[in-house]
Amino acid sequence: MSDVVDEAACARWCEARLSGLATPSQRRVFNLTGTVLHTNLGRALLAEEAIAAAVAAMRSPTTLEYDLSGGARGERDDHIAPWLRRLTGAEAATAVNNNAAAVLLVLNALAGPRDGKVREVIVSRGELIEIGGAFRIPDIMAHAGCRLVEVGTTNRTHLKDYAAAVGPDTAAIMKVHPSNYAIQGFTKSVPAAELVALAREKGVALIEDLGSGTLVDLETWGLPHEPTAREAIEAGVDVVTFSADKLLGGPQAGLVVGRKDMIDRIARNPMKRALRLDKVRLAALEATLRLYGDPGRLAERLPTIRSLARPATEIRAQAERLLPRLHEALGSAADVGIEPVRGQIGSGALPVDLLPSFALAMRGKGLDRLADAFRHLPIPVIGRIADGSLLFDLRTLDDESAFVAQLDQLDIRQSTS
Ligand SMILES: *Cc1c(COP(=O)(O)O)cnc(C)c1O
Repeated sequence: MSDVVDEAACARWCEARLSGLATPSQRRVFNLTGTVLHTNLGRALLAEEAIAAAVAAMRSPTTLEYDLSGGARGERDDHIAPWLRRLTGAEAATAVNNNAAAVLLVLNALAGPRDGKVREVIVSRGELIEIGGAFRIPDIMAHAGCRLVEVGTTNRTHLKDYAAAVGPDTAAIMKVHPSNYAIQGFTKSVPAAELVALAREKGVALIEDLGSGTLVDLETWGLPHEPTAREAIEAGVDVVTFSADKLLGGPQAGLVVGRKDMIDRIARNPMKRALRLDKVRLAALEATLRLYGDPGRLAERLPTIRSLARPATEIRAQAERLLPRLHEALGSAADVGIEPVRGQIGSGALPVDLLPSFALAMRGKGLDRLADAFRHLPIPVIGRIADGSLLFDLRTLDDESAFVAQLDQLDIRQSTS
């Protein structure tokens, strides 16, 4: 072994180690994947009002569980429940860490073991979903302490299938929004509204997991209809759960709305304490919900709606502005042009490609290396490779100047990771 030290190599090694330590692990990126609510990239971006509320809550003590009028202890749900009641028409509401937690909690509170006896929850075989990251209805059911009773078939389930399955141990019927897939062809499912009478007659709870669930009609912005929490409540569903960081456009949380007696039982369950929200997210959630009080301005204030509602003509104009800049940065490394593409809402809302958009499309040899070079920019740029092109869907590019400003640092020779 040589004892000669290569000083330059040593310095390079130290520099790499130190810059690694100085770089945060969770970093800002450009999401140009075409998926607006990208779970791996953090889903919804918060409205400025929500960001300001979260920052203010981080800096100071707050009335998180304090009632100013009586100077006594208050309830943390009181900050968001009135808004959720107003926006969904439900009698009562609560919130936990995310929708997976909401489903687990609701099942345990309403259908968990009673007097040492395991109880049953009926679900259609066409709705036994798996969401990314180990959320599978049968597993959640088992962890909530319920016995899953499957009814119908993968493609067809009828009201009579549910009716035949209800027995003395049935605690609930659950509907699950099949959010990340679509069953097409010879299909039949029973809408929640048609299960209400059966659930009432048999004295069992009717639960619906809406997944993305929204508070407004997306058709207002020319988008396809997604079920709203209000529709489920008006149909007669007892308890509805949905995510706050999908179409709703807020921070990560799971929202539970429905009948007061049931929400009370859910809120008293010990799991509620384990899954509760902190003051920062509650502040952001309250501020987000407040924006829904003025639905006419949502597209302007809520980044999720703003991105989804962005007209394709505007995206095309942006692509035309950026094309020469990208061309210049790439030199002879790749051809670049503008291509019409279809993006997705993401996070389980309407899993079929549908958002007409425009992308900067790069073609050439070594697309993986090119994608890698963009991921190594100061603000990494994440696109997608499809049909022999590296595509940057511009629907979600709001900070155009930051995107352009770093293009001259693109190092196409760099690589290997
Ligand atoms: C996304 C989703 C969940 C999980 O929600 P999280 O907020 O990610 O925990 C559960 N059920 C359905 C139907 C979903 O779409």
